Amino acid sequence: MSNRTFTMIKPDAVKAGNIGNILQMINAAGFKIIAMKYTKISLDQAGKFYEVHKDRPFYGELTEFMSSGPIVAAILEKENAVADFRKLIGATNPAQAEEGTIRKLYAASVGENAVHGSDSDDNAKIEGDFFFSGLERF
Ligand code: GDP
Repeated sequence: MSNRTFTMIKPDAVKAGNIGNILQMINAAGFKIIAMKYTKISLDQAGKFYEVHKDRPFYGELTEFMSSGPIVAAILEKENAVADFRKLIGATNPAQAEEGTIRKLYAASVGENAVHGSDSDDNAKIEGDFFFSGLERF
């Protein structure tokens, strides 16, 4: 089991002014920030990041949304990071997310759902490497 996960605060949450609120919840839940950047990805980069979903009907919508505005990308560390972070963000669809989760509080829809959280240790590594070099991790 790895102790790292990867997250993005998505364009909807950045636009709504919720970066601070979401980082506060991440810190309060005991995650340490290993790397972080405020950036914007192109449609092409979003396509690469979400390549596993390329055959899904929402792939176009998802990649357009994720390249529509700035995001905050981060690598987080905590024991059992992947599973614990998925618990903190809640279900993909905010209507089904538990009370008190980030998506319940800050997401508007299944597409525009405020945050990303890796779904496995392997993907956490791949996704963190997509955004950060070794020199950007502390
Ligand atoms: P996650 O691991 O909870 O983020 O969910 P998935 O891996 O299933 O999907 C990845 C991302 O695709 C989600 O976080 C949503 O932003 C988006 N997504 C999933 N399902 C839908 C959908 O039905 N419609 C749209 N527009 N986007 C979706």
